[in-house]
Amino acid sequence: MIETKNLCKTYKPRKGVPVKALDHVSLCFPDHGMVFLLGKSGSGKSTLLNVLGGLDRYDSGEIIIKGVSSAKFKQQHFDSYRNTYVGFIFQEYNILNEFSVGANVALAIELQGKKATDEQINHILQEVDLAGYANRKPNELSGGQKQRVAIARALVKNPEIIMADEPTGALDSVTGRQVLNTLKKLSADKLVIVVSHDRDFAEKYADRIIELSDGHVIRDVTAALSESAEPDREQDGLSFNGNTVQIPAAYHLTEEDRIKINAYIDSLGGANPVSISVSKQTESASKFKQTDPSNINDRNSSPFRLIRSKLPMKCAFRIGADGLRHKKIKLVFTILLSCIAFTLFGLTDTFGSFNHLRACTQSLIDSEVNYVSLKKLQKQLRGNDKDNFYWRQGGKMNDDDLKAIENNIGLPVKGVYTSDSMDLSFYDQIDDSVELSQTHYTVYTAGFSGFSEITESDLAKFGYTLLAGNLPDGNKDEIAVSKYVYSTFEKASWCENPASKQDAGEKGFTPIRSYSDLVGKTLLLADRTYTITGIIDTGFDLARYLPLTEKTEEESTSDMLIRYALASELESAVQYGTDSIAFVGNGYLERLISDKPTYVNLNQYDAYLYYSSSQNEFWPQNIGTLRNISDIPVTWIDSEKTTLAPNEVIVSLDLMYSPDLQEPVPTDEFLQKLKDISFTCYGHNSANEWNQDPTEVRIVGVINSVLYTDYCNLVIVDEAFFDQMIPDTSGIYSHAVGAMPQNRNEIQELVKYSYNEEHDIRYALQNSVTYELDTVKEVLASVAKVFLYIGLFFAVFASILMANFIGTSISYKKQEIGILRAIGSRSNDVFRIFFSESFIIAMINFLLSSVGTLTITLCINYLIRSRTGLLITILTFGIRQIGLLFLISVAVAAVASFLPVRKIASKSPIDAIRNR
Ligand code: ADP
Ligand code: MG
Repeated sequence: MIETKNLCKTYKPRKGVPVKALDHVSLCFPDHGMVFLLGKSGSGKSTLLNVLGGLDRYDSGEIIIKGVSSAKFKQQHFDSYRNTYVGFIFQEYNILNEFSVGANVALAIELQGKKATDEQINHILQEVDLAGYANRKPNELSGGQKQRVAIARALVKNPEIIMADEPTGALDSVTGRQVLNTLKKLSADKLVIVVSHDRDFAEKYADRIIELSDGHVIRDVTAALSESAEPDREQDGLSFNGNTVQIPAAYHLTEEDRIKINAYIDSLGGANPVSISVSKQTESASKFKQTDPSNINDRNSSPFRLIRSKLPMKCAFRIGADGLRHKKIKLVFTILLSCIAFTLFGLTDTFGSFNHLRACTQSLIDSEVNYVSLKKLQKQLRGNDKDNFYWRQGGKMNDDDLKAIENNIGLPVKGVYTSDSMDLSFYDQIDDSVELSQTHYTVYTAGFSGFSEITESDLAKFGYTLLAGNLPDGNKDEIAVSKYVYSTFEKASWCENPASKQDAGEKGFTPIRSYSDLVGKTLLLADRTYTITGIIDTGFDLARYLPLTEKTEEESTSDMLIRYALASELESAVQYGTDSIAFVGNGYLERLISDKPTYVNLNQYDAYLYYSSSQNEFWPQNIGTLRNISDIPVTWIDSEKTTLAPNEVIVSLDLMYSPDLQEPVPTDEFLQKLKDISFTCYGHNSANEWNQDPTEVRIVGVINSVLYTDYCNLVIVDEAFFDQMIPDTSGIYSHAVGAMPQNRNEIQELVKYSYNEEHDIRYALQNSVTYELDTVKEVLASVAKVFLYIGLFFAVFASILMANFIGTSISYKKQEIGILRAIGSRSNDVFRIFFSESFIIAMINFLLSSVGTLTITLCINYLIRSRTGLLITILTFGIRQIGLLFLISVAVAAVASFLPVRKIASKSPIDAIRNR
């Protein structure tokens, strides 16, 4: 059944000379019978047995098992071969100490993928005289008992081959004989290969003796069939005859025997010398004849089929869990570091999955923002990569923009016209002796944010109500004001003539007690007198902000922050919202604009200009063409012009720093000086395109901005250059306003639309809530990035620690692994053991880091709510994060156990057992 051909193995120790342990060994073993491998210590017996059992590797030659050559066997085939066919019995027992006797035995069956029944276990234990020992732990057993457990383990799977390496070596002679008797019985239908250096035992029990010396087979004899050895025939004891003590051949003296002999000698009285004689081996020597290989015939011809081992998860888990006991401090450190790493990962993901859209929608609802304010932004690429961009000011909006918004989200909006050169404050027309606020926060407005047209149908669209009076007429200088603006007058009266305010005293102020009191009154705004025709309720909740005006006693930091947040909410509402708009009639804006200079503010278009000369330099804020100054006089330096050449500019006087500015009319001398200066013009236009080759320009005229104050900080350039700087000036509105939708879905749509970055233009929401959340988003994104890197660092560290932990654990368990391998486990099973060990660590990590992430998330949410007054849950920790943490934990455990286990699994089982 097993055959070896020219098997060779040489040990090459790191120190010392190589040893030829097997030297061209060619043998053929039958499928039953008891074969002894005999020889002196170091002759190669164990090596041969281990190689035959696949516990050790050989260098050359071949093993043929049931006609199948092992030439192409891998380690795992040998493992399966042992699992299927071989029961191994070692001199040092090699049973697993964490497992009970019963479990040790059961494991051998379970590795074959079969279920071990209690009956089966008890039966086999009974057979080796260990009935009732199933629940004992190996450390409660004597050597002989342990060896019998090992035998039971070898027998229980009913293997075809039993290999025993000096099974009696560690036992007393009586127990040793018992063991050999058992093996002899088994050899009736199994192949039993026993390694021994005891010739007497061999000759007594063997059907065949193979003797080795220095790795060679020096003798191979088979017992003659006729003279079947009858081991029990042998006299077992000593015989005492007169002065002679007779000891049978192949008899091992025991301590008992020694005492008996001494007692006998003492009984003789010491008169005569006592002779001790040993019986000669007589008949047994002749029993053996040279083995004839042709006589070895197999009765059993079952085909060669291997069973791959499968270590039950329960056992793997048990051995794995046991490993955790050994190095507690290391374990705590490993877990601690892994937890930090995983918690950081958890937070990274929590931060990363911050749902800006949902948070924005919720916050808009929570903070009761009643207006929608949208400003135009233009996508600006940073290079050629279409994904690398930022959003810059998109200039003023025109009616097309308003239509686009309405069409996309069905939200009616109106454009708001503001102008830097227009003063829309009415502070002069209220009683400044009235204290509007006890704190530094202003809640009542004393100015308008801009003009917007309103019609009857707009009232309905925006959900506004006219509280008193009428809507303004677009053909007249008429305005309607919001209830919010009305509140200011109600609080601080109205004054007809701002110019006479100083001398008017109390008398100049008219108290405003009802809406109709304000209707018909006039306001002086940007040099025009407007009549207030009506009061509109825009839904502004002044009461929400009034606490800001009240003095508080001691204010905690968080109260302060909450008040600050409330104040900035109000500030945004006043600046961008609908509540402080001066509502004008249809068509009024067109008239207003045509009356105003339409030069543009460079800043609003993200454009920039800078003129430099050796004597002088200036940075105009506004840019225009000759058309924009047609209604004011220009002081020409040489001659009047109707067009400007590309190298000619007109500047407003305020740009030219000079003492002459004190004079309303610049002197000729000053102008002549200007004429000689050549300026280099630098800058970039609204698309951020730099003026590549700076042009040389000269000043050909000036605007007396001291007289014409609307024309300050202005440079007049030629048409072509203007178009180049500001390609699109069709817009007149600085932003668009509407009423906030009432329903959550519509709000969500609005938020989604305003953050959609697909197109070149987008309309961004302006209010304190979205501004704050934009900041939160950015902060979270960058914090998440930092956490990710720190987390990665820790994760690498944790993996190394964990691998190291598993590594140490393996060195503790090397022998157990070897034993498991010897009884047939594959390296896969070994991996299971250590994976279950790291899996336990992983689960602890997973639990702790989940709790850690959850706690930190809750803390951050609580802090954001209580410290900043934002009424929203910013971070959410959910299934996704839990799943992620689980995956990371398990992955790290797998990686950490893979490498160390692979190393041990590649060792030969015998090296593992012997802890080499
Ligand atoms: P036996 O079992 O007959 O006593 P072994 O088969 O154990 O002998 O050993 C045969 C020879 O190989 C001996 O000389 C022994 O010293 C040597 N040997 C066995 N194992 C190793 C090893 N792992 N490294 C080096 N030499 C070894
Ligand atoms: Mg040996």
